[in-house]
Amino acid sequence: MPEGPEIRRAADRVARAIAGRPATRVRFAFPELKRFERRLSGKRVDAVDTRGKAMLIRFEGGLSIYSHSQLYGRWYVRPAGQLPRTGRTLRLAIHNPDRSALLYSASEIDVLRPAEIETHPFLSRLGPDALDRELTDSALEARLADARFARRQLAALLLDQGFVAGIGNYLRSEILFVAGIHPARRPRDLSDDERHALARAIRRVSRRSYRSAGITNDLERARELRARGLSRSAYRHHVFGRAGERCWSCGGVIESSTRGGRRLFVCPSCQPAAQA
Ligand SMILES: [Zn+2]
Repeated sequence: MPEGPEIRRAADRVARAIAGRPATRVRFAFPELKRFERRLSGKRVDAVDTRGKAMLIRFEGGLSIYSHSQLYGRWYVRPAGQLPRTGRTLRLAIHNPDRSALLYSASEIDVLRPAEIETHPFLSRLGPDALDRELTDSALEARLADARFARRQLAALLLDQGFVAGIGNYLRSEILFVAGIHPARRPRDLSDDERHALARAIRRVSRRSYRSAGITNDLERARELRARGLSRSAYRHHVFGRAGERCWSCGGVIESSTRGGRRLFVCPSCQPAAQA
């Protein structure tokens, strides 16, 4: 599933294609949204925002198109009127004279008024966005200390979009590795230094992935490994997807387990289960 950084990059591509100018034609596949086609066509696209894994395309006049790509949704940007070759189903198309922004396969699409954004069942429950430039380490440390979150295992907490929005499966493993913290631990059992390291890793690993198109490994190391001929999937991450391979930092063997049906990767020596 695309995570916050992938959604933000898709939003950037969509914004480059359609923001700041009128959308000449807007088309929805879902019958209940057809009534908005005429109201949105001809209106300027003011901004393309993300909140965690959701996207909001804001139109002049106050309406926004909300979408959540879930597992299968995918955005394409094409020259106006051209469609990609795909077996997917087109759900939403926003055209201007030069470009078409096309959303395929997503099942969650809606049109929201400003007040409905604030009360939306998914959006209203989201925590702060891991990619938000205004988010600080100290705000995240306070959140980790909050009674709502402090007793939960980090393996589950980090995937809770109400804690921090935008973290998914690969970011969870990578953030915990960078912080040096085992996923079975809980915020209340962390030292101040560990809480700080975790807050910092949540922001930094998410931003690194956004800027580098999904690389969470140290960028210098990733460059070296690529120069040595390693594939992107081999150098992309610290631990995610690398079970049985050597940790880049300590040389130990990376282990994997399944939490809540989703894979989790750990270096047992860099992320000890109990505090030393
Ligand atoms: Zn290690």
